[in-house]
Amino acid sequence: MRLGSQSKIVRRNTFAKRRKGWIYGTLAAMGLCLLTFLVPDFVQAQQFDLLIKNGRVIDPKNQIDSKMDVAVKDGKIAKVGKDIPSAQAKKVIDASGLLVTPGLIDIHTHVFVGSKPDTFADGFSSVSPDDFTFRSGVTTVVDAGTSGWRNFSVFKDHVIDKSQTRVLAFLNISGTGMSGNPEQQDVNDMDAHMTSLAIKKYPDIIVGVKIGHFEGTEWTPFDRALEAARLSDVPLFVECHLPQLPLQEQLGKMRPGDIITHSFEKVSERMPVVDDQGTLRPFVLEAMNRGVLFDVGHGGFGFWFSQAMPALKQGLAPNSFGTDLHRFSMNAGMKSMLNVMSKYLAMGMSFEDIVLRASWNAAKSLKRTDLGQLSEGAVADIAVLSILNGNFGYVDAGGKKIEGKQKLEAELTVRGGKIVWDLNGLSAEK
Ligand SMILES: [Zn+2]
Repeated sequence: MRLGSQSKIVRRNTFAKRRKGWIYGTLAAMGLCLLTFLVPDFVQAQQFDLLIKNGRVIDPKNQIDSKMDVAVKDGKIAKVGKDIPSAQAKKVIDASGLLVTPGLIDIHTHVFVGSKPDTFADGFSSVSPDDFTFRSGVTTVVDAGTSGWRNFSVFKDHVIDKSQTRVLAFLNISGTGMSGNPEQQDVNDMDAHMTSLAIKKYPDIIVGVKIGHFEGTEWTPFDRALEAARLSDVPLFVECHLPQLPLQEQLGKMRPGDIITHSFEKVSERMPVVDDQGTLRPFVLEAMNRGVLFDVGHGGFGFWFSQAMPALKQGLAPNSFGTDLHRFSMNAGMKSMLNVMSKYLAMGMSFEDIVLRASWNAAKSLKRTDLGQLSEGAVADIAVLSILNGNFGYVDAGGKKIEGKQKLEAELTVRGGKIVWDLNGLSAEK
């Protein structure tokens, strides 16, 4: 066979194949059109995985405080609007009378749990995040320096990667984190360079550097932590058990965007923000106006009404509601994120303002502006909260109590589009 006739046959076969392909393609397209035409409701019904209807949506980032519906698809917020039809979702939740907020963010926790006794790092004094978060509407926690660059990988392998809760971390300037004394007092193991290398290796998890629990008189640990934060362009988180370092100088060294916690502490180890006459110290207000962020950091000893109430009246509202969750604080006056928020509600703060601090403010302070909101396209981390009415008592670290008429409770928590907490079976079949 000559080459010419062979190429003719090949061309003919190719043409036949193309024509066949065109016919099949056209038939398939017609079929698809017919299917879409005949069953538009079916296609529409599959549009959303979850629809939370009729709740009071408070989304401070988007300045929403209104009765709205929130639709979720593929783990993301798909739509926020009024009267989204129930037929468009596979599962519908009636949130009438409930608050619908972004999943709450707790920027101060200790969750590097392990079996070492009397220790936070890989120890029994920390708690397991999933055990305490979702039941309080919390979907993201930040571990406040329980690990350092030497043991962060153990924390990541044992806790962060195993938790459904999103666990972020401030890395301790101390190489082994909160491993107890004398290790965490060893200034020679406070390495700004190694700390910043770990932050660069895990930029999605490590959001800042923590200094705290140092009992010495020198500024070296504080300065090294600040240096590591500078090298990595992340905030410094100051947990102020630094008894020998004066508060005014600490605040003076802090940059706008750095965070101080235990803001309303009244202990002998640190100068309180409000003086004995009940006046907020001017340098504290100046630091706030300069952009230093004040976190509650309630914990076991970090929150006193005698500090927090006059501070609030005189212009120092906390920027975020870090709870300092650990094995001891949760069974004392702190209890939970929602209890801390309810406390501020009892102190006169509005719902919008407490949700702002527990969501968008917290996200911004971590430079994680992808979180703490219900924008379309954002990860579907959602808290559905009920407001209980009655007589409630709120206790501080000093054993003082105030009374409130309202208390928040988590009805339903959604993490990445999945329902991870459902107190009264809102999502269950009847
Ligand atoms: Zn702490």
